[in-house]
Amino acid sequence: MPLEILGKMYEKANRERYAIGQFNFSNLEFLQSAVEAAEEMKSPVIVALSTGAIKYGGIKNLVALTRTMAEQVSVPVALHLDHGEKLDDIKRCVDAGFTSVMIDGSHHPLEENIALTRQAADYAHSHGGITVEAELGRLGGIEDDIKVDERDARLTDPAEAVRFVKESGCDALAVAVGTSHGAYKFKGENRIDFERIKSIKQLLGIPLVLHGASSVDAESVAQINQYGGKIEGAKGLDAESYTRAIQNGINKVNIDTDLRLKWTAVLRKLIAEKPGEFDPRKFLGPARDAVKEVIKQKMTLLGSAGKA
Ligand SMILES: [Zn+2]
Repeated sequence: MPLEILGKMYEKANRERYAIGQFNFSNLEFLQSAVEAAEEMKSPVIVALSTGAIKYGGIKNLVALTRTMAEQVSVPVALHLDHGEKLDDIKRCVDAGFTSVMIDGSHHPLEENIALTRQAADYAHSHGGITVEAELGRLGGIEDDIKVDERDARLTDPAEAVRFVKESGCDALAVAVGTSHGAYKFKGENRIDFERIKSIKQLLGIPLVLHGASSVDAESVAQINQYGGKIEGAKGLDAESYTRAIQNGINKVNIDTDLRLKWTAVLRKLIAEKPGEFDPRKFLGPARDAVKEVIKQKMTLLGSAGKA
């Protein structure tokens, strides 16, 4: 299929209460993992590039690769910009053929975030009806000892979200509800504010997005450390958290760390065990297959399997 506008994929997900996985990539193998997993699981899929990934792989190369791969499968594939910070990032990606973009003005004061998101939405909507995700609130773990007012200042405020979406014109909203990016999501207990997701969803009705939503698989971390790595104290979301977040209104879940950890775990082990091998395919091939398996498991967990 040609690349699909993410908004079209959201409609069914929102109606039927499941989430579509966003899987970040910057090379051939991660993209193959995501698209092949989607085809095998009959799942819609979002593949995403950050501005760093675009710099790494080249925007024309990466868009052409994604388009070509999407055309060879029967499931919908959306190409999304993850965390665009400037209007120029948005314009560049919309012009290059992305079917969804994120404008992240969450580090700006509210009025500036609204104004920036409005400009991004106007541009994307008037150029092929491209879907726009925005962010309100600051992502970060909720520690046990944090004061309530401090916590509320960081997390997405439901009433503010109503005004934000109305005035900015965004189609989907990334919410700050206690998750963080990277491998170290929680100190102590997992404290995602599910009630907050529920209130925001009831007020807005639009698709909500959960960032920083990797599980941080303990087995991968152990394997990395066993073969010379050093990743300590890493912690992520359990399966129940995904289910509860989706039940309360999340329709897109961003996963990057889990793929990177699995990739690194496989590569470290193979390189250690095959000292005479120097064909990159002998390392990258098995790593790609392992990442694909992780993605297939996520699709089942998110409820998107069988929905394409
Ligand atoms: Zn993010």
